[in-house]
Amino acid sequence: MSNTQPKIPFHLEMEFTYGEPREIWTGVRRVVANNQGPLTHNGTNTYIVGKNEVALIDPGPEDSTHVSALLEAIKGEKLTHILLTHTHKDHSGALKELKERTGAAVFAHAPVLDNRGARRKADTPLDNGFVDLGFRPDTVVKDGDVIEGESWALKAIHTPGHAPDHLCFEDQREPILFSGDHIMAWNTSVVIPPEGKMSDYLASLKKLLKKDYERFLPGHGGQARSPERLVKAFLMHRKWRETAIHDHIKDGKNTIDQLVPLLYPNAKPEVLPAAALSVLAHAEHLCEQGLVSSNTTPALNSSFEAII
Ligand SMILES: [Zn+2]
Repeated sequence: MSNTQPKIPFHLEMEFTYGEPREIWTGVRRVVANNQGPLTHNGTNTYIVGKNEVALIDPGPEDSTHVSALLEAIKGEKLTHILLTHTHKDHSGALKELKERTGAAVFAHAPVLDNRGARRKADTPLDNGFVDLGFRPDTVVKDGDVIEGESWALKAIHTPGHAPDHLCFEDQREPILFSGDHIMAWNTSVVIPPEGKMSDYLASLKKLLKKDYERFLPGHGGQARSPERLVKAFLMHRKWRETAIHDHIKDGKNTIDQLVPLLYPNAKPEVLPAAALSVLAHAEHLCEQGLVSSNTTPALNSSFEAII
């Protein structure tokens, strides 16, 4: 394997104004919430699908201004369905208020309550409060279920990896996919244990390769215009990183603390906790494949040994 890191064709541009609906595909309007940040980019994207009787994907963060913008965007129409890609609060926080103000029914994956959040060291700033553990859908959606209204139809695709309950929604009338935080055009997905699982994430990427999409509409950032190319690039990027981690373990770098500076030589101190968890996700995956062993259940303080 080459030493040069494969390039991911990121697409950072995005035309939008906070709170203003923009039709970005026939029958699809996007409203961006004003919660920008290192993990949310410009903010969370809420999508309105159909017309007259509409569905909405991801209400966004708890923010009355955003909810009012959504209600303004669908003025004169009826919101019948709220669909949720996953239970992270930047996607689900506005749900309660939106449901109260519209009476729409909520469709999402069944609650997953075990092994949520991020494993941390005492001194890391990562916060487990991002998981909405209190969330309960009105209707549980399973992989392959089609949810439809008069002017729209969406098929749920279970895509765990970033979150165990993550669903993408495939438009049944247009060649587009609402990809949530599974695939975004501006950055790689955060996959950190136990919330994230690398083997699930890779399988969920491959699951989308068999399809013929023209566009992905993600939970943050602009549209992915060459979806297949992007999915392949993410798979190559993870493969490259995992091979590098495997090689360093073979060289006797046995702990996450030893591995992180080798893999992220130029990282700012504030991203190191997330980097450590990302390396752990790969180390865990190497253990599952029988390539590496760990002296304990893989954790930030485990010692890893190459088997092969
Ligand atoms: Zn998320």
